Amino acid sequence: MLDTPTSLATEAQSLLPSLGVAETAFRGGSRQVVSPVDGEVLASVPTVDPAAVGEAIGRAHEAFLKWREVPAPRRGELVRLLGEELRAHKDALGRLVSLEVGKAPSEGLGEVQEMIDICDFAVGLSRQLYGLVIPSERADHKLTEQWHPIGVVGVISAFNFPVAVWSWNAALAFVCGDAVVWKPSEKAPLTALAVQAIFERAAARFGDAPANLSTLLVGEREVGEALVDDPRVPVVSATGSTRMGRAVGERLARRFARAILELGGNNASIVTPSADLDLTLRAVAFGAMGTAGQRCTTMRRLIVHESVYDTLVPRLAKVYRSISVGNPLTSDALVGPLIDRAAFEAMGRALEAAKAAGGTVHGGERVDVNGANSFYVRPALVEMPAQTGPVVEETFAPILYVLKYRDLAQAIALQNGVPQGLSSSIFGTDMREVERYLSAAGSDCGIANVNMGTSGAEIGGAFGGEKETGGGRESGSDAWKAYMRRQTNAINYGRSLPLAQGVKFDV
Ligand code: NAD
Repeated sequence: MLDTPTSLATEAQSLLPSLGVAETAFRGGSRQVVSPVDGEVLASVPTVDPAAVGEAIGRAHEAFLKWREVPAPRRGELVRLLGEELRAHKDALGRLVSLEVGKAPSEGLGEVQEMIDICDFAVGLSRQLYGLVIPSERADHKLTEQWHPIGVVGVISAFNFPVAVWSWNAALAFVCGDAVVWKPSEKAPLTALAVQAIFERAAARFGDAPANLSTLLVGEREVGEALVDDPRVPVVSATGSTRMGRAVGERLARRFARAILELGGNNASIVTPSADLDLTLRAVAFGAMGTAGQRCTTMRRLIVHESVYDTLVPRLAKVYRSISVGNPLTSDALVGPLIDRAAFEAMGRALEAAKAAGGTVHGGERVDVNGANSFYVRPALVEMPAQTGPVVEETFAPILYVLKYRDLAQAIALQNGVPQGLSSSIFGTDMREVERYLSAAGSDCGIANVNMGTSGAEIGGAFGGEKETGGGRESGSDAWKAYMRRQTNAINYGRSLPLAQGVKFDV
């Protein structure tokens, strides 16, 4: 058992100054921040007036004009210092994540570790923003491609990864020579305030970073809208529901701005006849119930071959009955709270709809852990006769729908037969089936794993998904290119003027 804090608010309000946040930033404001752990108000933060967003973006743009001229490896030094500050404050920030959004301690710390990892990645990247030299078709000509900083990058983030999402974007944007303006989730502004304070400390140690390189705008949806509409913001990375992404994507398209959309998932795993069922069981448990089903990559559908269904599903139902649900701060419960009442009610509605569509529900009932203002549930395992009703939607809660299949083509069709396309996985040791699943005719998702669940991605790969998940990619691989503008240069170092494609124009 961990120490029980006498009051979560007291603890949060002592952690915030220790992380460098001024008291005026979390006392006496209009927006109350509630911990899902016990429904208690942690703090009251002042919010930004949407009318003030333009001025803040103007200051960020000024910072960009200076920062773009700093050599990229030197920009990497700022991100290296940010990583150092995050290492030094990992425990406090991880704890604040747990207080504010109800994650188990190891998951709160894991989120900060992810921030550290992307900083390390970005530091290396700062010396690898490679362009190209392309063979020219003309004599005495050179054709090159180079990457330049693009401007102010807007970041809009969701409650469930309140700080890591900022870092996936910001660490890359800073080494790419951009300024960042961040609109965090209105449900998680405290951790955002702490991250901004940590960044300021890294910038002070760096010495000559321009002011306002990183700007935090704590506010409601209207603040996000003002950020999305400002023509001085050429790229907006928005993480959240598909509903939000549709609104943001349309607004950005109207002014031809670049969108990096990281939206909802409806992630499926296929269990084939050759699967290692012990490993599968453990992977499904974490994938479907970890973080109380509130990861964009949470496993939401399990498509099981008929030959192993009757072995696996009863064992899984037993795990669902026995999994520990409780206060993540005072016990080692594996399933913590839902974020709020709305999430709890959405889960209830989905389970009712599943029953109406012929589903058999195991679990899903409310568990009284900390009284009426917090919402804990036993995760639900739902055996479905067909992929209908709530199964094709994302409900942001721990519900796993189970479907039976006969051949792999049918399983892949079921997996891909939903509007979302974020993460997916297959369990099996038959390499023909596994490779088929990874082929062009297999999973249609941005992420396709083998012998593991759908969640828990590493930062080294590009992260994101297709279809209604939005198509964006962030984090590793070459995701950095979205934070820069590409310039093609043709250089004539000869004395004549040959035209491309052999065109003649002699005057
Ligand atoms: P949400 O859509 O309610 O809010 C996300 C953010 O968008 C918040 O900061 C909110 O203020 C802002 N916002 C909402 N409408 C807006 C608008 N019209 N213009 C500008 N900003 C707007 O999402 P949530 O409940 O915080 O998070 C859960 C959702 O996020 C789930 O659907 C989950 O799958 C998704 N998510 C996706 C990823 C991913 O990488 N694909 C990661 C985490 C969460």
